[in-house]
Amino acid sequence: MIQTTYAPSHSYLPSQIVSTLKLDASIKLLLLASPGNPTGKLISPSSVLDLLTQTRSFWNGVLVLDEAYIDFALPNSSLCTAVTDYPNLVVLQTLSKAFGLAGIRLGFAFAASEIAYYLNCIKAPYNISSPASALGTRALSPDSLAILKHTVTNILHQRDFIVSVLQEEKKARRHGLPGIGDIIGGLDANFVLIQIVNGEGEADNIVSETLYTTLAETMGVVVLFRGNERGCKGALRITIGTEEEMKTLLLRLQEWQNSLT
Ligand SMILES: *Cc1c(COP(=O)(O)O)cnc(C)c1O
Repeated sequence: MIQTTYAPSHSYLPSQIVSTLKLDASIKLLLLASPGNPTGKLISPSSVLDLLTQTRSFWNGVLVLDEAYIDFALPNSSLCTAVTDYPNLVVLQTLSKAFGLAGIRLGFAFAASEIAYYLNCIKAPYNISSPASALGTRALSPDSLAILKHTVTNILHQRDFIVSVLQEEKKARRHGLPGIGDIIGGLDANFVLIQIVNGEGEADNIVSETLYTTLAETMGVVVLFRGNERGCKGALRITIGTEEEMKTLLLRLQEWQNSLT
């Protein structure tokens, strides 16, 4: 049976993970997403390694680190090479995000040879298709990686731009009117998580979801409502796009604000 134990808040709490693993010997798999979704926050690589070191003496399980958004984090944030030193660490990456190849459904698992052996034993008959393999190989060529680097640089640039505008909008909110609140979570992925607040300045799911619906149904802009996730009250997840897309989003947000007065 699969049991899921949630941390009591959205932040990463290594000491609680250690005590939970100590208390329940039936836990064999620990899954951490770094950067997280929808938080966009990287768990520092050194704290993940600390966790592996601290649990080594008593825990006989596997830590799976989901690095789906790692290409948007600072360089050297990945732990994919650490699997040679930590035999119970498995690192997952995907071509679905920064590479824009969600359609081929291809990703990688980095693992020590002992774990890779078992994964190879159980994957048949679901092998990687030859078209996916050919496209994936091309995506990892030096030329394609140079394009990837360029695309990621543009996205990070647009992320800085939208963060600074949203922070200005937050300061400019008029008392008594709903508007933009804090950016919560981190800035390590290709999205930002912002709280939408009511007239009293409190994060508000009704205001946030109404804005989400207005943007999607009448303004042609789709963001994600994430207000029901733990610790994310009132939050919208905005995916970073092109300069034009970001300017359109900001214009639509301004139209929404003007419509409230
Ligand atoms: C998108 C995503 C993945 C990878 O998805 P695939 O398309 O199946 O490779 C994994 N983890 C998180 C948190 C994601 O957002």
